[in-house]
Amino acid sequence: MRQEIVNPEGADGPAPLQLFWALEDKEGEVAVQYDLDTGEERKIPTAKPHDWASIAWVPFRDPDLVNRINYEQNKLQNPTYVDLSPLPFIQIIPKAGELSRVTRRGYLEYFSYYQCSACDTTFKWKKEDDDIVPVCPNCGMTNTWACDIHGEVSPIHLENGENRCPHCEKTGIPRGCRKIRNLVQKDGVSQRRHYVAVIEDKIEIEIGDDRIIIRSL
Ligand SMILES: [Zn+2]
Ligand SMILES: [Zn+2]
Repeated sequence: MRQEIVNPEGADGPAPLQLFWALEDKEGEVAVQYDLDTGEERKIPTAKPHDWASIAWVPFRDPDLVNRINYEQNKLQNPTYVDLSPLPFIQIIPKAGELSRVTRRGYLEYFSYYQCSACDTTFKWKKEDDDIVPVCPNCGMTNTWACDIHGEVSPIHLENGENRCPHCEKTGIPRGCRKIRNLVQKDGVSQRRHYVAVIEDKIEIEIGDDRIIIRSL
């Protein structure tokens, strides 16, 4: 099985796992991803999905197990943390040799957003040429700037982030403005996970954060 963790551009790390694998071989032996007593992660017994009689994705339901695993992962250089899950237990029992691919993908993305103090609308904003300061998409509110001498002004926004008073600029003694924060910057985080199993040329089963999709190929 490929333990594929794809981090698209701009993502900041793998999302915590919600499911762990249990593999059944042709002799009926079952291996699970973690030692349930110590929380240590184990290697996949055989990397060939064709050799498995079944695979199950087991949701984390036991907070103690989650703690044990995260404690062990914390010792690693590239930890993959785990989290409790509301997903159901899912077992895939293919006909002999038909399971051709099993992967998981997950990522975590940190982003910043603005909250408008006038109307409470939250929105994301990226600096673009035609829109150099954030503007509330609902009520048009912006941050405002004030010069200590000239009061509220429409400042000159410089490339380096400085906001200068246009009146002071004319006098030859440049002066920065104070920002009045009508739009409050906040930090958010989003995470997405997929677990994918492919039954050769027939169906693909994708388990997402809040849905399970079965596609015929
Ligand atoms: Zn607003
Ligand atoms: Zn001024």
